[in-house]
Amino acid sequence: MYFSILSAALNGVEAVPVFVEADISDGMPSFTIVGSVSTQVREAQDRVRTALKNQGIFLPPKRITINLAPADIRKDGSRFDLPIAAVILAILAKIPPGSIEETMILGELRLDGRVNPVSGILPSVIAAKSGGLKKCIVPRDNYFEASAIKGIEVIGVASLEELTDYCCGRFSPETPVCNETAGKELQPDFSDIKGQEAVKRAALISAAGFHNLLLSGPPGSGKSMTANRIPGILPEMTEKEQQEVSVIYSVAGLLTPDMPVITHRPFRAPHHTLSPQALCGGGRIPGPGEITLAHRGVLFIDELPLMAAKNLEYLRGPLEDRKIRISRSGGACTFPADFLFVAAMNPCPCGFYPNTDRCTCTEKDIRSYYNRISQPILDRIDLRVDVPALKFSELKSKKTKEISSAILREKVAVAFEKQKERYKGLSFCFNSELPPALVDRYCVLTKSAGDLIRNAYEKQLLSARGYHRVLKLARTIADIEDSHEITEEHISEALCFKVK
Ligand SMILES: [Zn+2]
Repeated sequence: MYFSILSAALNGVEAVPVFVEADISDGMPSFTIVGSVSTQVREAQDRVRTALKNQGIFLPPKRITINLAPADIRKDGSRFDLPIAAVILAILAKIPPGSIEETMILGELRLDGRVNPVSGILPSVIAAKSGGLKKCIVPRDNYFEASAIKGIEVIGVASLEELTDYCCGRFSPETPVCNETAGKELQPDFSDIKGQEAVKRAALISAAGFHNLLLSGPPGSGKSMTANRIPGILPEMTEKEQQEVSVIYSVAGLLTPDMPVITHRPFRAPHHTLSPQALCGGGRIPGPGEITLAHRGVLFIDELPLMAAKNLEYLRGPLEDRKIRISRSGGACTFPADFLFVAAMNPCPCGFYPNTDRCTCTEKDIRSYYNRISQPILDRIDLRVDVPALKFSELKSKKTKEISSAILREKVAVAFEKQKERYKGLSFCFNSELPPALVDRYCVLTKSAGDLIRNAYEKQLLSARGYHRVLKLARTIADIEDSHEITEEHISEALCFKVK
């Protein structure tokens, strides 16, 4: 007796349809699962057998063979428990086979028959829809995540019994009540930061042109506060971007019934001591790392000079290519990693330089501290800005109206619009990505602006790379002001950002 249904395996952030085939024949009683499966998948036989037994269904003393096809894709995890149980139920005529045709089934079984949520539901439902399937049966806890995809019926089941009842028409699953406040939590606002006008300006320019940013200042000066407000001034994600990011979080198992889709741009701030695998992704079956979880948002690394040299090295590629390729025995895959990089550092190892009363570092200490950040990483950071400790007068300032995120967001939106129009049909979207060969074409200078940057270059204040960087920054500053030409003021502001 043979029957087959559909499920899906994960490959990076994509799901691949998998046929779950079962055959029950006469012979020595056995239960085998084959088809390039991991130990965890093979363990499904014990979970399935026990869960069925606890529903009062005993497996016949026959030879049961389960095959997960195609065999060239490695299958891992517990997501195949429920489809394996379903295919057996269909063969044993406990459910009508027609009820699970053109259906994708995913879910982990507990011994008592309850269904646990699994990661990667969202890309699986997307794969089911594009494969022309009619419905998906998923764990109840994954219901909201799955229902984010329109145009395919989603059924959430909490137990094996509910699955059986649903297939026999005895049960119509209730729609779980959606948490209305999900994703609407308050975002931090720039108006919470007192003073620091220059730093806020740098954050605006960074967001507007997707220029990576390095903040340098003593502890407590507001570097982290600035960084975690940057995602809030970027334009809201489009529906396509929200889906892209939600798929990543689904694969990482980070979506919950309270947060079934990611609507806000991510802000990831891992500790600088994290492992290369946590940073870049990986594992036996590669999963996303911090750089991928920051996709379409901000990756913030505090204390950048203290980060292991190896990690800094790993960051180089993604900062350039906006994606990362991971090869493992379980297969190679590519994860997206298009993020705005914001880093912070103290001005010296103790953090108090240039306050000579408190700083205890020698000049050599300070130099070697700076040298820990490799040149290739610095080359990828367009903006470097000092975040000074707040003056007492600023701290006690009566000024009640600080610039808000809403105002900054409007300015960023203007710049985004200009760049979108300018780079239409090209392989990049932002001023920060402008290749040197195209800089002159898109950065049109007024005569006085041209004189100013030539002067800076001739006085050796700028290298050739710095020259391009100033032009790209000035392009963004002009875009924020909705100006086609780059003026002297734009160049002189760009020159302030310690670009060499
Ligand atoms: Zn110091």
